[in-house]
Amino acid sequence: MDTCPVTCPTCFEEFLVALPPLEETPCDIDYDCEVCCRPMFISFSDDGDGEVGGFARGIHD
Ligand SMILES: [Zn+2]
Repeated sequence: MDTCPVTCPTCFEEFLVALPPLEETPCDIDYDCEVCCRPMFISFSDDGDGEVGGFARGIHD
């Protein structure tokens, strides 16, 4: 399974998340930071290169 690094919007630590299949993107998932355990949303989408990229944002954005 592929993973990609995302940066937590709360503690700004980077950690790896498992990527969904390309055909299931774009999508948003709820995720708890593996470092500080705060909730966030991670948006997965095609990065334009046929590969999935992930971007984390805070739940209050
Ligand atoms: Zn965090």
